[in-house]
Amino acid sequence: MKVGEIMTSNVISVSDDTTMREVAQVLDRHRISGVPVCDGEGHIVGVISEFDLIAKPDAHTAKDAMSRDVISVMEDTSVDEVRYLLVHRRIKRVPVLRGQKLVGIVSRADLVREIALTWVCQVCGDTERGKDPPDQCPKCGTPSGSEPTVSPPVGEGAETGGRVCPTCGQEVAI
Ligand SMILES: [Zn+2]
Repeated sequence: MKVGEIMTSNVISVSDDTTMREVAQVLDRHRISGVPVCDGEGHIVGVISEFDLIAKPDAHTAKDAMSRDVISVMEDTSVDEVRYLLVHRRIKRVPVLRGQKLVGIVSRADLVREIALTWVCQVCGDTERGKDPPDQCPKCGTPSGSEPTVSPPVGEGAETGGRVCPTCGQEVAI
């Protein structure tokens, strides 16, 4: 499965001259913890998060506080690769680009939704999406043989937590 299929494409962004107060309003209003920063061309130039807002009280605009070191993916990146980034880089969201342009964002919540919506045919292993299981498997025709997925459909296994510093006990980013 590709990121383009599960990303949120109505992506909210701010521009680099958006004031910190406006950024705060955007995060608050949409109940999001971070937002991409774009230039006039719609090219992503950074990401600003609630952490940046709190950590940099002297900043005036998004440009002053955003992190420029943005991990992003393309629409055709596999969901499994994004899952890996979200887990191992300990980030919450990844901007999705088409060429240089921001076209979407994929978050932990998007992957959670995939788990909630995915049904697996117990006979042929076909996966279908939907709020309810399919009446019959569209692939092999087995009636009501679909069960909720037990693992993320995007790859195997559960989260592997971050590493802990042996000296100070703090979690360290990998
Ligand atoms: Zn089937």
